[in-house]
Amino acid sequence: MDNCLFCKIVKGEIPSDKVYENDEVYAFRDINPQAPFHVLVVPKKHVASVAETGLMTDGEIAACLRAVSLIASQAKLDGGYRVISNCGPDACQSVPHLHFHILGGRKMADRMA
Ligand code: AMP
Ligand code: ZN
Repeated sequence: MDNCLFCKIVKGEIPSDKVYENDEVYAFRDINPQAPFHVLVVPKKHVASVAETGLMTDGEIAACLRAVSLIASQAKLDGGYRVISNCGPDACQSVPHLHFHILGGRKMADRMA
């Protein structure tokens, strides 16, 4: 996608604070962190959201969650962490390229809203 912010970050056209990369995924620190540890994991292939995972291979989908697990492990988020993927306007998704937020380093609210 030519005009997609996260596609540009994946391609290095917009700078990012990279924490992990492999053939399928790219991960970088959120520019507006909501927790001491806040990283975004995105597939390198453009899809808009979880709603479009039908356009991905099982391997591409699995790579995202395997990266989440690896990054959290490397960051020693031993107390736990939260994984969020906002999907569409009701969820206030602001960047229409599938991404998984990893939030950690503090106790999360006990309810999701
Ligand atoms: P969402 O609202 O779930 O679509 O999440 C998009 C996230 O992207 C937000 O948490 C933003 O802070 C983050 N974000 C937007 N632009 C950038 C950027 N250039 N680098 C890193 N994170 C960004
Ligand atoms: Zn994109």
